[in-house]
Amino acid sequence: EEFLNRLRQTEPQIRSFLHVSENAIREAEEIDGKIERNEELGPLAGVLIGVKDNICTIDMPSTGGSRILANYQPAFDATAVKKLRDQGAIIVGKTNLDEFGMGSTTEGSGFQVTSNPWDVSRVPGGSSGGSAAAVSARQCVVALGSDTGGSVRQPASFCGVVGLKPTYGRVSRFGLMAYASSLDVIGCFGSSVADTGILLHSISGHDRLDATSSEREVPDFAAQFISENFLESKPLKGLRVGMISETLGDGVDKGVISSIRVAASHLEELGCIVTEVSLPSFSLGLPAYYILASSESSSNLSRYDGVRYGNQVAADELISLYGASRANGFGPEVKMRILMGTYALSAGYYDAYYKRAQQVRTLVQKSFKAALDENDILISPAAPSAAYKIGEKKNDPLAMYAGDIMTVNVNLAGLPALVLPCGFVEGGPTGLPVGLQMIGAAFDEGKLLKVGHIFE
Ligand code: GLN
Repeated sequence: EEFLNRLRQTEPQIRSFLHVSENAIREAEEIDGKIERNEELGPLAGVLIGVKDNICTIDMPSTGGSRILANYQPAFDATAVKKLRDQGAIIVGKTNLDEFGMGSTTEGSGFQVTSNPWDVSRVPGGSSGGSAAAVSARQCVVALGSDTGGSVRQPASFCGVVGLKPTYGRVSRFGLMAYASSLDVIGCFGSSVADTGILLHSISGHDRLDATSSEREVPDFAAQFISENFLESKPLKGLRVGMISETLGDGVDKGVISSIRVAASHLEELGCIVTEVSLPSFSLGLPAYYILASSESSSNLSRYDGVRYGNQVAADELISLYGASRANGFGPEVKMRILMGTYALSAGYYDAYYKRAQQVRTLVQKSFKAALDENDILISPAAPSAAYKIGEKKNDPLAMYAGDIMTVNVNLAGLPALVLPCGFVEGGPTGLPVGLQMIGAAFDEGKLLKVGHIFE
């Protein structure tokens, strides 16, 4: 009740939710009943969780932030959601996002604009801006988002919360609406590293409904913090931290750079050995990402044709029905991505764009591998600036895309990355949070969470 009251009070300013569950109180009462009857409780019993609206829920609409799916109610829960419910969690509602995850501000939602709780005239980041704002405003305890090119990490940075992008394949994508399938991953938001690690543990693991989900064993990420004398054993002594030099130069706000440098010296105080490391292919990641993500999305979004999926606009013949349904249902950013992707994949341009972008992807993977052979983790800012004003980049998509420079490479390489607050820059009533990004080797989330927990 306390959370729901807070949600009701703050929602008129923040607008993080597209839908709030009508069952939350009843589900909480069921848990109270179990407590009274001394029945066994799941590890997440009663924990209120927000879920990004591109993740399917059987009891609430799931729109992906798109008008083409307005009122769509799936016949199933996404595997991640099912796992949470099986462990006793209460899904409190569906959070706002840029349409189908395409955007970095949440202004691209087909329904509403979400505000940053630190300064309501600013964007919460995106595309999982609703989930980040909801955790930041304490409207829920933790939340799920999705990260194709930074959509968990950048909003976590803008909203001053913890965000985790797991290794590609760590979490089942079954029930996540596909944007760019080779990059998409469901990620976690929390107000502490421990909470975020517990959430990751509860949704991870192989799923026969997603052939790309990994069979790797899932460690109990949070258990490592709980051991006695954990800090006294100086767990970070000798840990090699590589600060990515390409992320601390031109185009990055001075206040952001100095926050990252302060964070690096804090890591040194904790016993880490911090050095600078170069990722030569770093700047190529952004154009390659936008070619690949748009190409994959142009294919994935073909299912929304008004027949298989999506609201239908009636027409005399089938082709016009497709055209009218898509013209009416998709917003401008989605239409632009479909055009870009279709162009990049078309005969005659495929070699020049898609194939070259795939080659860059291999380069990016190799340069991360080399840097992570020399270092345990890599660090960088999560975004080149703190949260900016609503409307500031709305009519300048290239400026918005450029803001993804810190995050997209990690998706191209499929690696895990943790973002956590590390400082403030001036702005808004009380200053604006800056996020530190820690990148690890594949399936090494445990190390990131350990370092993050001690850092925090
Ligand atoms: N801003 C990036 C894009 O628009 C990333 C989005 C995401 O991770 N879903 O593609």
